[in-house]
Amino acid sequence: MDGRLPFRTVDHRDSGRRLADTLRSAGARVRADVALAELTTLRVGGPVPLLAECDSAEVLVETLRVVDAAGIPTLLVAGGSNLLIGDRGFPGVAVRIANAELELSDDRVVAGAGAVWDEVVAATVAAGAGGLECLSGIPGSAGATPVQNVGAYGVEVASLLRRVRLLDRRAGVVRWVTPDELGFGYRTSVLKRRDDAVVLAVEFALRPDGSSAPLRYGELARRLDAADGARRPAGMVRDAVLTLRRGKAMLLDPDDHDTWSVGSFFTNPVVPAAAAAEVLATIRARVGDIAIPQYPAAAGTKLSAGWLIEQAGFGKGFPGPAAPARLSTKHTLALTNRGTASAADLVELARTVRAGVAAAFGVTLEPEPVLVGVTVEASK
Ligand SMILES: Cc1cc2nc3c(=O)[nH]c(=O)nc-3n(C[C@H](O)[C@H](O)[C@H](O)COP(=O)(O)OP(=O)(O)OC[C@H]3O[C@@H](n4cnc5c(N)ncnc54)[C@H](O)[C@@H]3O)c2cc1C
Repeated sequence: MDGRLPFRTVDHRDSGRRLADTLRSAGARVRADVALAELTTLRVGGPVPLLAECDSAEVLVETLRVVDAAGIPTLLVAGGSNLLIGDRGFPGVAVRIANAELELSDDRVVAGAGAVWDEVVAATVAAGAGGLECLSGIPGSAGATPVQNVGAYGVEVASLLRRVRLLDRRAGVVRWVTPDELGFGYRTSVLKRRDDAVVLAVEFALRPDGSSAPLRYGELARRLDAADGARRPAGMVRDAVLTLRRGKAMLLDPDDHDTWSVGSFFTNPVVPAAAAAEVLATIRARVGDIAIPQYPAAAGTKLSAGWLIEQAGFGKGFPGPAAPARLSTKHTLALTNRGTASAADLVELARTVRAGVAAAFGVTLEPEPVLVGVTVEASK
């Protein structure tokens, strides 16, 4: 470890150096005093004393064993596309999941947790297998897809996943688990917002005939001239999804600040059935006689967070060109860093939008990304 830099979580620098050496012996690539902004798609996040990057599952397991035995707080990072990390950074070790192995046959794919998700999708489509194409273009890693039950264009990971190889850090046990053990829900699972269970690999079922998952999303189905539930060749669907995503700034592009985001910042709120009529009446009183986007959900009625944000007065690009953190100019649900934003700027924007929607409609939006060292609660 760089002797000039303080190591804040252990007694003195020697301990930090010793820990770095031990992690290197475990096979990790170790760097000291790294700006976490380097690792996130929002490009914000303060420093971390040590970053340990793990290129194989074995190295990842051993690295976590070492830091856990030393009692040092850890931050798990993979693609950094669903993380908002505060400007003060993280006082411990950031462990980067980077094992990218890929095993592909005609009816399944097994990917290391650190494999780039869209490369996994592209490889299956190129091999003539269908199933994953609607999830094309989602940034981040394969291993994070079960964490928040990633979904897009009418498909969720939960419906395609066969099994997940999990490390239980407390017990030190690695085993394959099936989806019924993962408590999947809308943008959530038992793995979200905890770090004692770590995904080492994922296995997905594929369609050997090369046809897509049934098309259930109106905009995509219309583009492909397909009836609800029809299938199309996976490659055709992938191309259409990528085009649609590009139009909404939902494909990462380092040159386009509209994509310096975590994708959707808030989940679509689900209003319990008992409260739905009252909430809809409040919305109607404000917006007048226009259609309110709403969808049946298991626990009630799902509303569109992006639509509510817009109707509450926060249009695309809010608050304006001079602000370092702004809503995307293509999508009100994405909070973006225009190049110089801090985490505090993004938090302030999130709080403003959240409070405005609550004041207008009585609906509280919940953040989708994992927040580290920050909160969007107005009171804190
Ligand atoms: C432009 C853009 C578009 C997006 N579009 C979508 C979309 O359409 N649908 C959607 O669902 N999401 C979307 N996202 C959000 C994001 O891409 C996904 O949530 C993605 O799965 C996050 O993967 P990651 O590797 O970047 O996770 P990270 O941001 O690195 O981590 C997120 C959380 O998961 C945990 N984690 C990561 N890997 C593991 C692992 N192997 N084991 C255990 N925990 C782990 C981390 O500790 C952290 O708490 C979008 C993001 C962006 C920037």
